[in-house]
Amino acid sequence: MYTKNSTDLHFHNEADAQTEMDMKLQSADFMKIFELGLPPVDHEAIEHATTEILTAVGEDPQRDGLLNTPHRVAKMYEELLSGYRTDPAKLINNALFDVEYDDMVIVRDIEFSSLCEHHMLPFLGHAHVAYIPRGKVIGLSKIPRIVDMFAKRLQVQERMTRQIANFINEVLDPRGVAVVVDGKHMCGMMRGVEKHDPSMTTSAMIGAFRENTSTRHEFMSHLGRVPGNFGV
Ligand SMILES: [Zn+2]
Repeated sequence: MYTKNSTDLHFHNEADAQTEMDMKLQSADFMKIFELGLPPVDHEAIEHATTEILTAVGEDPQRDGLLNTPHRVAKMYEELLSGYRTDPAKLINNALFDVEYDDMVIVRDIEFSSLCEHHMLPFLGHAHVAYIPRGKVIGLSKIPRIVDMFAKRLQVQERMTRQIANFINEVLDPRGVAVVVDGKHMCGMMRGVEKHDPSMTTSAMIGAFRENTSTRHEFMSHLGRVPGNFGV
C-alpha cells in the first residue's frame, strides 16, 4: 500500500514537472527571448516580391524556366525559416530525464545550414555541443533539433551559437554548456569583393566551461583543437 502510494506520488510529480517545463517553454517571455512564435509565412507576398526581383534584374518572369520560380521560392523560405515557428515544447517532447550522471556530454559534428541575415545567402557547417548535467539530461537526438531551430532563421553565426547555448542552459539548468560552430559563408565565397576567409569559428561558454579552464580544454581536445585556438 505504501509502495503503491509512493509510486503514484512519483508519477504525479513527474507529470507536474513536465507540465511546468511545457508552461515555461511556451510562456510569452521564453518565446520572445528565443524569437519564437512568429506568424505564418505569407506565400503570396513572397511570390509577388520574387516576380518583382526577377523583373528588376531584367529577366522575364513569364519565360518557361521561371514560371514556377516565385512559388518555389515561397515554399523554400517557409522551410529555411521554419525555426521561428518551432514549438519548443513539442521539440523537447518529454525527452528530459533525471539522472545522477555528471560527466560531460558531447555531441559533435552536427550539420547545419542557415541564412546570413546580411545577404540572405547560406552559411553552413557543423556545430559541436557539450554540457555537464546537474541532475537532468536530454535525449541525444534533441540536440541537433535544437541546433536546427536556431539555424533555420536569418542569422549571424555569433548569435546562433549563443542562442543554442542559452536554450540548453534554460532547459537543462546544467553545470555548464559549451557550443562551438564552424561555418562557411557563401556571401564570402561567392562575392569576389573582399579576399577574406569565408570560414568562421564561434563559441559560447556558460558556467563550468567559462569558469574552469581545464573543463574548457577537455572539450576542445575532444574536438581535436588546440586550447585557445578556437575563435572567440
Ligand atoms: Zn552575409
